[in-house]
Amino acid sequence: MKIQSMNCAQISSLLKEMGQPAFRAKQVFSWLQKGAGSYDEMTNLPKDLREILAKEYPIYVPKAVRKQTSARDGTVKYLWELEDGNCVETVLMRYRYGNTVCVSSEVGCRMGCAFCASTLGGLVRKLEPHEILGQVLFTQKDSGLPVSHIVLMGIGEPLDNLDNVLRFLELVNDPAGLNISMRHISLSTCGLVPKIDELAAKKLQLTLSVSLHAPNDEIRNRLMPVNRAYPSEELLEACRRYYAATNRRISFEYAMIDGVNDRPRDAKELLRRLQGLPAHFNLIPLNHVEESPLRPSSREAIAAFQKILEDGGVTATVRRSLGGDIDASCGQLRKKYQKQTESK
Ligand code: SAH
Repeated sequence: MKIQSMNCAQISSLLKEMGQPAFRAKQVFSWLQKGAGSYDEMTNLPKDLREILAKEYPIYVPKAVRKQTSARDGTVKYLWELEDGNCVETVLMRYRYGNTVCVSSEVGCRMGCAFCASTLGGLVRKLEPHEILGQVLFTQKDSGLPVSHIVLMGIGEPLDNLDNVLRFLELVNDPAGLNISMRHISLSTCGLVPKIDELAAKKLQLTLSVSLHAPNDEIRNRLMPVNRAYPSEELLEACRRYYAATNRRISFEYAMIDGVNDRPRDAKELLRRLQGLPAHFNLIPLNHVEESPLRPSSREAIAAFQKILEDGGVTATVRRSLGGDIDASCGQLRKKYQKQTESK
């Protein structure tokens, strides 16, 4: 395991084997959690230790191969190159309540959602904990903007890479590291039911965001192949169990797609099926993906849909779209970069 993926206890035991005093572990861990680019920066460590660590536990710093800043809202999008040459996207959004980083959890995705750019080339591989963490640390370092909130809503399905995601969460939550509270973290899933239960058992106070996108199986099967493995009723049951275990309201993402899932009767069906489950809806006007025939709903259709949900007692917000001028929705920048480098 890369030293940057280790928690403080693991660093502690490897330093102990090297005959180092106990307090060194915390020093190394804190430097790594600040995004130190090399052991030379760790000025409170003896020089010989720095040299041994550099040889045995090299640090990897991802390379920003693209960086785009939105002229409209200051959103910054990075394309990071990993050690093996694969690239992932990270988006930094500047909200009033704090700077929020949207991280990727996999290179590509195997979930196959019909509207999503990230899944077009399938799954290449899962990210290691330090590769997820690095997106936060080096985005913060490069931009000079302190990060207070994290959303796992970039490329990939976080629950398809749960063990590495859990380590990532442990690292960012560590008081000797970024010390970001679980309440400032959202994890978005397409609905892998057994993994939702596994996460619920951890009783973390993060927000579970579920990509619902449809009021019933008929529509959801067309949009999301995962629904054939875990139909919407099983998914909603898992959401109820998640709420019972954590007492955290579920956040549902709902991409508004013209003529597909945006009719008044779709909103009414949702209300019927969600009864008794504390929920919040994020209505997202579909981001148009070149390869797809699906189109965003009209502003009027979205407003009418929102009103039906609200009148039925379910809070619903329309997600403000940031970074529309910089391909800031997931998967778009990575794909464009692949096309450009392939044609060279
Ligand atoms: N795999 C996870 C997280 C990644 S995507 C999940 O499925 O939730 C983050 C969110 O963006 C998901 O709700 C996803 O369905 C949504 N999304 C993907 N492509 C989109 C598009 N073209 N327009 C609007 N939302 C999209």
